[in-house]
Amino acid sequence: MTEERKLGFDTQQVHAGTAPDPATGARQVPIYQTTAYVFQDADHAARLFNLEEVGYIYSRLTNPTVGALQNRIAELEGGAGAVCCSSGHAAQIMALFPLMGPGLNIVASNKLYGGTVTQFTQTFKRFGWEAKLVDFDDPAAVEAAIDDNTRALFCETLANPAGVPTDIPAIAAVGNKAGIPLVVDNTSATPYLVKPIELGATLVVHSTTKYLTGNGTVTGGAIVDSGQFDWMQNDKFPSLSQPEPAYHGLCFGAALGPMAFTFHSIAIGLRDLGMTMNPQAAHYTLLGIETLSLRMQKHVANAQKVAEWLEADDRIDAVNFAGLASSPYKALADKISPKGAGALFTVAVKGGYESCKKLVDNLKLFSHVANLGDARSLIIHSASTTHRQLSEEQQVAAGAAPNVVRLSIGIEDVDDIIADLDQALAVATS
Ligand SMILES: *Cc1c(COP(=O)(O)O)cnc(C)c1O
Repeated sequence: MTEERKLGFDTQQVHAGTAPDPATGARQVPIYQTTAYVFQDADHAARLFNLEEVGYIYSRLTNPTVGALQNRIAELEGGAGAVCCSSGHAAQIMALFPLMGPGLNIVASNKLYGGTVTQFTQTFKRFGWEAKLVDFDDPAAVEAAIDDNTRALFCETLANPAGVPTDIPAIAAVGNKAGIPLVVDNTSATPYLVKPIELGATLVVHSTTKYLTGNGTVTGGAIVDSGQFDWMQNDKFPSLSQPEPAYHGLCFGAALGPMAFTFHSIAIGLRDLGMTMNPQAAHYTLLGIETLSLRMQKHVANAQKVAEWLEADDRIDAVNFAGLASSPYKALADKISPKGAGALFTVAVKGGYESCKKLVDNLKLFSHVANLGDARSLIIHSASTTHRQLSEEQQVAAGAAPNVVRLSIGIEDVDDIIADLDQALAVATS
């Protein structure tokens, strides 16, 4: 018997999860723009609802176009299964929903996307959930923050906005010891740069809005399960390890093994929360993913050159980028993300907040938008926008102090990116 060859990343990003359409031979994945699917007969319908047979029922739950994207993302991340949803923020709720309940908490990094900090510290309270934000540079502090009611650890691979890498193996070890999963937001690294599951993560979440789609067209999210966490090892996760009354007493952990989390996310998460990705969005993201590795190579190469140019410029106070030799995070970035430290970093401009404002207003090639991971170069003043709801102390901890701007370096000619920054800095600091 011949062993099956494992396909490389560049091949997977084009082929994984898809095949010519069985009905028509269409080579690109068709947009299955339908709400419902005709059952073969009454028994077939019953088998689908019992999860005895996998098939399509209703597009709030599953759709072939969305399904193709789910399979592709699962394969690129090296997971057992994936579920797509309507946005990155939806993915975070969907990832935690099977694990959490009133009175329970997560321990999360204090370096996170600003919107995530707000979701975790404000909106979670309405569910009776709590998030304790601690410094993930210090695994002992993470361990100390875990209590009997902690159900997950949460961090970003390369934390927004300053691209700070997380020591995923060290944090995963803390989670394993406590019998709780590590959830990693891999939005800004993408599986091309880092595969958190290989480093010990249980669940990976994405805002597919960003690099995976890569062209700023649609919002979306994904949750990938490693399939490796034993939900039955303790009594912390009853919705997965015990008969679930919300699905006529099915024990997902016992019945579905490594696919327990994925099926739970569809059968209960999408069914009852309804944060579904639509097939049009899945189509755009499938197209974007085909060129992920090519874009990421250009993103990281450009970001490295731009960061080095800025660091050498005397109109700049500091560049916070883990790819720079001067960064305290350089060694960790080389370990976690050896192909490059991402394309997202912050810059402190001489003259503080006023200079930041003038810089943003005078750039011509850069777009001033609340987004990242677009093919275009983007800039934003985080403290007054994405991190606005945070206290100044939280802003500083998150790397979004008032005197810094965040750059998301695109795939344009790097000389043009640098020329644009040069002319705008001249105005901003004159
Ligand atoms: C954008 C972003 C999110 C939220 O995603 P949406 O698709 O905007 O809901 C979460 N995490 C990170 C790291 C992000 O960049």
